Parts: sequence; structure tokens; C-alpha cells
Amino acid sequence: MNAELISVGSELLLGQIVNTNAVYLSQELAHLGINVFFQSTVGDNKQRFYDTLKQAHERADVVIVTGGLGPTKDDLTKETVAEFLGKKLVHDEESLRSIEAFFERRNRVMTPNNRKQALVVEGSKVLANHFGMAPGMVITVDKKMIILLPGPPKEMQPMFKNELIPYLVSGSGEQAAIQSRVLRFFDIGESQLETELEDLLDAQTNPTIAPLASEGEVTLRLTVKHADPGERIRLLDETEKKITDRVGAYLYGYDETSLIEQVFLQLVEKNATIAAAESITGGLFSGRLTAFPGSSKVVRGGSVAYSTEVKENVLGVSKKVIAEYGVISHQCAREMAACAKEQYQADIAISFTGVAGPGLQENKEPGTVFIGLAGLTEEPLSFELTLAGGREAVRDRAIKYGCFYLLNE
Ligand code: ATP
Ligand code: MG
Repeated sequence: MNAELISVGSELLLGQIVNTNAVYLSQELAHLGINVFFQSTVGDNKQRFYDTLKQAHERADVVIVTGGLGPTKDDLTKETVAEFLGKKLVHDEESLRSIEAFFERRNRVMTPNNRKQALVVEGSKVLANHFGMAPGMVITVDKKMIILLPGPPKEMQPMFKNELIPYLVSGSGEQAAIQSRVLRFFDIGESQLETELEDLLDAQTNPTIAPLASEGEVTLRLTVKHADPGERIRLLDETEKKITDRVGAYLYGYDETSLIEQVFLQLVEKNATIAAAESITGGLFSGRLTAFPGSSKVVRGGSVAYSTEVKENVLGVSKKVIAEYGVISHQCAREMAACAKEQYQADIAISFTGVAGPGLQENKEPGTVFIGLAGLTEEPLSFELTLAGGREAVRDRAIKYGCFYLLNE
């Protein structure tokens, strides 16, 4: 399925406003696996909009128009769409009632031109506007769709998410229903993932497979099109299995989640408690973990053992280990985790020590990080990482790796 966007509004052409609607819709459609082939912007001019619409409708399966649905004279979108399709505009009772209610809530008198907002293209699926007055519309003709959405982003975005997507996914209309599933991977680069899955990516049709990399993670969005919900699940499961047979070791979750959330859920599920001894991460790990409601059941506590004295005198890392191996070492990471587990009486403890940069420390390069884990195995474990990026990136990655190890050990 491919889509084309038309943004209507002379303010856009004058550069008075930025076209955030096109950015938002392109991103959301990409997530859904729908390719956007063209975007155009046209002023509030009937003939030019008509011509743009005609061209878009010829070459795209779905045309999404934003703007020009309001009550004023320059709002011409639905009139022009109706004329283009040879359809009439009819009053939609529900929209009219919701517009009247909109005015009542604000104690304002409804002017007659607002009735125009309840006019919709005949035969269209009306999309309710809970944040404004103009309803949206989906008009399906010969398996092609024209979708009309209001211009103001605070009306357009919730309508897209809450009204349009469920309608598309429910398989209403003549279009096949779509459903997507996001597979989230960590510790594998985008290019490695693509190499491992090259033949699957080349052959993909239904579901489509769209890779996306950001902040050290890679996701694959599988999007399936099928009218039957059971068949959609089967196709998604089948493709997921082909993928995880090869790179399943890197998969950590589905859809909207994060490594830290998976750690939290796993602790809850295992009914296990955790403590942290943080040097390089300065408490960020504990901060993120305690962001989840209910974290008090699994988080015992932790310390920011930033200076060497605190590592020794407060956390209890032995002077001998520090003298012999330094604080940026496997040995120190393991002892930090073991001390935290003991001090905070937790089932599991994690530690982070390393060089955030920009300078060297103990002659080690920025990005050198050691992570310790105590309580998962008989003896504490430790891992060494060499992470790229500035301080923030190094600290963020360190936490992500820590979570990944917690999930996998
Ligand atoms: P209204 O009922 O508010 O008139 P409308 O559907 O007729 O809504 P327009 O009149 O085209 O939409 O635009 C209304 C306002 O919405 C614009 O002034 C602008 O602030 C915002 N807007 C419209 N199109 C876009 C866009 N593409 N990107 C960002 N903002 C937009
Ligand atoms: Mg308007």
C-alpha cells in the first residue's frame, strides 16, 4: 500500500507555519509499513487543490489531505473532494450534535457557518473530532482511499491515532486490514541485522519488514495486511519465527517497551529484589528503574559510589582490589556488585564503573565500562564494554547493556 500526502493551506506556502502534519503523518505511516511516495503542499485555491488531488489519486492507493476542513470561506477541501468524486455533501447528524455541544461547553453562540462543518462527503466514514469541530472523513472508491483530516495538529494527531488507525485495522471498508508488531533488538547493529536477514528483507511482501535504528537499538516493524484477524496473527508469527531463528538472541521485547521496563517486569515476575552500585552512571540506573509504579516491590536501594574513597569506605570494595586492578576493572565491578547485594540485602545487584570521558582515567579510554552482576550465578559476573559517543551516550549505553545482561544471564 502506498500513500501520498497533501497539505492544504496558504500559510504553509507563505512560510508562516511549519508543515508538522506532513512530518507526523510520514513518520506514523512508515511505522505502519505504508510507503509515502509523494508529499505536496497547496494553497487555499480550489483549482490548484483539485489538480493536485487528481494527480495524487491517480498514482496513490491512499491520499491523505490535511487542512481546509473548517467553517470559513477559504476552507475548500471537502467541497473540492466531493466535486472531484462526483458526490454530494450531506449533513452528518452526529457531527452536528457534537459541534453544538462544543459551543455549549464554551457558552458561545453557534454561528450559521458552523453548520457547514457538519457537512461530509456522502458515503464517507466519518472520523470524530474530540478536540475541535471539523470531523474527518475516509472516502473509499474503487479500493482507493481519500482521507481528510483537520489542519490543527492537536486535532489531527488524536484523530489519526484514535479514529483512523482503529478503522483501518478493523478492516472496515474495502481495504484489507493492517496490523503491525515491532520486534526490538539490542547488542546487534543495524547493518549486521540486515545482513543476517538479507534474503527475508529482499523477499518481504506480506508482512512487510521495516528496520529502524535509534539510540543503540534496532527495531523491525512487521506489518501484515489481511482481512482475517487470525490469519494476520499467523502471518506475523510465521515471519517472526523466521527472524528469531537467526537473531533471536538479540530480541528483548515487543512494541512499545524498553530494556529497563523489561528488567522491571522480569524482577516483578521472578519476585526478585535488586540493588545497584553506580559509579559512571551516577544513579541513572536506579533513577530509571524507580520510574515505574510498583518499583518499591523490587528495588532495595543503591549507592552512587563515585569517588574511590566511597567505593572503599562506604561500599566496602577492598583496598587490595583497587590497588591491584584499579577502579575501572572487572574485579572492581564484581566487588561493587557483591558489596551492594550484601549491603542492601537484595537478591541481585548490578554495578557500573568506567570512563565517561572526555579524558582518560587510569589510562583507560573514554567509553571503557565494566558492569558487574551479583546474585545471578554463584560467583559475581563482570562484562567489559568499549562504547562510542560522548558522556551521555556512554552512560546511556552502559545502562542498556546492564539491562540486557540482567535479562539474559
Ligand atoms: P480550522 O477548523 O481550524 O480552520 P482546518 O481544518 O480548516 O481547521 P486550516 O484552516 O487549513 O485547517 O488550518 C488551521 C490551522 O491549523 C493553521 O492555521 C495551522 O496553525 C494549523 N495547520 C494547518 N495545516 C498544518 C500543517 N500542515 N502543519 C502544521 N500545522 C498546520
Ligand atoms: Mg480553516
